Amino acid sequence: MRVFVTGGAGYIGSVTTEQLLDQGHEVVVFDNLERGHREAIDRRARLTVGDLRDADQVARAMKKARPDAVMHFAAYALVGESMTNPGMYFANNMMGGANLAEAMVKAGVGRIVFSSTCATYGYPDRLPITEDTPQRPVNPYGESKLMFEKTLQWYERLLGLKPVFLRYFNACGATAKFGEDHEPETHLIPNVIRVALGQRPEVQVFGTDYKTPDGTCIRDYIHIVDLARAHILALQGEQTGPFNLGTGKGYSVRQVIDVVRKVTGHAIPEKLLPRRPGDPDKLVAAVGRAKKVLGWTPRDSDLTTIIESAWAWHQAHPHGYDRPVRRAAKKT
Ligand code: UDP
Repeated sequence: MRVFVTGGAGYIGSVTTEQLLDQGHEVVVFDNLERGHREAIDRRARLTVGDLRDADQVARAMKKARPDAVMHFAAYALVGESMTNPGMYFANNMMGGANLAEAMVKAGVGRIVFSSTCATYGYPDRLPITEDTPQRPVNPYGESKLMFEKTLQWYERLLGLKPVFLRYFNACGATAKFGEDHEPETHLIPNVIRVALGQRPEVQVFGTDYKTPDGTCIRDYIHIVDLARAHILALQGEQTGPFNLGTGKGYSVRQVIDVVRKVTGHAIPEKLLPRRPGDPDKLVAAVGRAKKVLGWTPRDSDLTTIIESAWAWHQAHPHGYDRPVRRAAKKT
C-alpha cells in the first residue's frame, strides 16, 4: 500500500513509518517539521513539507501522493500547553484534521487511522477504561482529539470514509534508530532518563497523595513498537471505530523510577512536589477490543523492555536528534 503519514517526523509517526517500509509499503510523509525532526524520517520515505492548517497545501499533497490510506499522527500533544493556549490545539488538531478529511474526500482516499488518546476520557468513573467509557475530556488537547474523532464519524456516515481511532495510553520506548525527543520534555520516562544521563540532578515527582498504593499516579505504559504494529493491523482491516491501545496493566510513578534505577544503575534522586493539575489517579486500558478485532497483542511492552530500549536510544542521542546540528547552523 502507499500510505500518507502526517507527522511522520514525530515520535510515533517515525517508528510506524519505519515498520511500514520494513513491510514493503510505500510512505509519503507530510510534516511541517515544527516539532518533528528531519532526522526522524526514515530515508526510504518521501517527504512533503507542509502544514495541515493550509487546506490547499494538504489537498495538493494528497492529490500528488495518490495514497491508498492515511495515517494521521500530526498534532500538538501537550496537555499543559493546551490549557494555556487552547486556540492552537483547536486550529491544528481539529481544523487541520478537517482539512485532511476534505483532502481525502477530494482525492478519493477512504481509509484513515487516526492517533487519538485516552485523554478523550478525562477522569473515568470506572477502571479499566473500555471504548464505551464516556468521553469527557478535561483539557483542550483531549477535546480537540475527540472533536476530530466525531468529525471523522460524520465523514464516515455521510461520505463513506473508513476511520479507525487508536486511543493510546502512555506511549514510550524506542527502536534502535528512533526515539523520544520533545522540547520541552514533560513525559515521565525521558525525564527520569535525563537524570540517569547526568543532565538533571533529580526527578520531580508530581504528587504523592493520590489514591494509589504508593501515593503516586498509575499509568498504562505501551511501547511505540506495539503502537506501530496496531496501526498497520488497523490499516489492513475493514473495521472502523475506536480501539484502546495499552497493556491493561498499570505502574506507578515510583515503580517506573525504580525500573530506571535497575536498568541504568543510577540512584535517581527524587524531588517530591505537589500534584500536577489535571492528572487523574489511575488510567488503565481495557484492551479486549483491539485484541479481538485487530488481533493485536502487545509484545514489547514489559516495563523493563520499554526502559531498556529508551535508555539505549537516549545514550546514543543524549541531546536528541539534531540539536548539535541546529546549534552549528545558527552560528553561521
Ligand atoms: N510525572 C512526574 N514527573 C515528571 C513527569 C511526569 O511525576 O517529570 C508524572 C505525571 O504527573 C503523571 C505520570 O508521571 O502522573 C505520567 O506523566 P506523563 O507526562 O509521562 O504522561 P501523561 O499520563 O500525563 O500523559
